[in-house]
Order: sequence, then structure tokens, then C-alpha cells
Amino acid sequence: MPVSNTLPARSRRPPRKDQRVWRNMNVDKQLEDAWLEAFNSLTVYKLISICAGHPASDRNSGTHLNFRLKAEWFSQDSQNFEKSLKKLQLSLSDLFEQHSCVRMDYTKTYSANRSSQHDIRQSLTISIRPRVRREITDYDDTTRAWFDNMVSAMQEFDSQSRQIMDGDKSCGNSHVEIQK
Ligand SMILES: [Zn+2]
Repeated sequence: MPVSNTLPARSRRPPRKDQRVWRNMNVDKQLEDAWLEAFNSLTVYKLISICAGHPASDRNSGTHLNFRLKAEWFSQDSQNFEKSLKKLQLSLSDLFEQHSCVRMDYTKTYSANRSSQHDIRQSLTISIRPRVRREITDYDDTTRAWFDNMVSAMQEFDSQSRQIMDGDKSCGNSHVEIQK
């Protein structure tokens, strides 16, 4: 279920019976405030969808988390940015692979006018799912523990990502300003 707080209130559907409203968004009932708070307070990543998991009969029933890199973190220096991507991928595997399947997707698209930088669109998404897909319909301790783990892993990944991208920015730009 996509999470968006940019929709005007009137276009938001009333919550389904397995959902509740959190900050003007419909979220799965089992998702705890502390997790939603943490996933929405990251520096580098924006939460774009979160799901507690649903009965297997439901389409897209799997527990998951999806994040997107916030626009201000994309670099115009594509060589440095590609270096950063490799480091991000390593950090992601280190932090998540014990509990989860993670996937990082980067896309860069150019529109018709190739000469203008404004026509380059970049997108970086991180998709995270529990390694073991749940078969039962009830929300269980395993899922709760997974979300708890994901909060700390995601906070650490956010902080490492920030260091990686700040570091690459300063290497690519040796200009130092001295103010008097
Ligand atoms: Zn859901």
C-alpha cells in the first residue's frame, strides 16, 4: 500500500478495516507508531511504502518496506555518484542480508532535450522484504521482531549513506572557502 502525505485530504480513501489513520495516511493496523516515526525521520531516504503483510489470497500480500533516495542527495557528478552506489550496495548487504532480501534499483533517464541538465531524472529505490515469507495470516512475533530489526538497520544504513555521499562530494570538490 503506497504511503503518501502529499494527497489532498479529500482524495484519501477511508481506511479499510485492517487499516488505521496515521498522520493523514492509511496504514496497516499492526504497524506501530514508533516504526512509522523512525522510517519517516530518515535523513537520506524517504519511505514510499510499508506493508505489515496480508493473507496469501490477497495480491501483493507480502510484508515489505520501500524507500527512495531524497532528491537533494543525487549528485550531478555521475562518476562520483556511481562510486557512491557501489559503497551503498555493500553497506546495504552488510546491514540487511541476515534478516532480509534487499534490492537497490537505480535509474537515470534523459528526456528529448539532452543538452539541459533539467531533463535528467534519477531514481534510487531500496526494497526490503523478510527473508522468510510468512504463510500465516496472523501478525506474529517474527514479523514484529523483523520490523524492530529493520528500524535499527535502516537508521544505520541512513547514517552510513550520508557519510558515503558526503565523503564523495568533498572528494569531488576540493574548493575550500575561508571566511574572515
Ligand atoms: Zn499492507
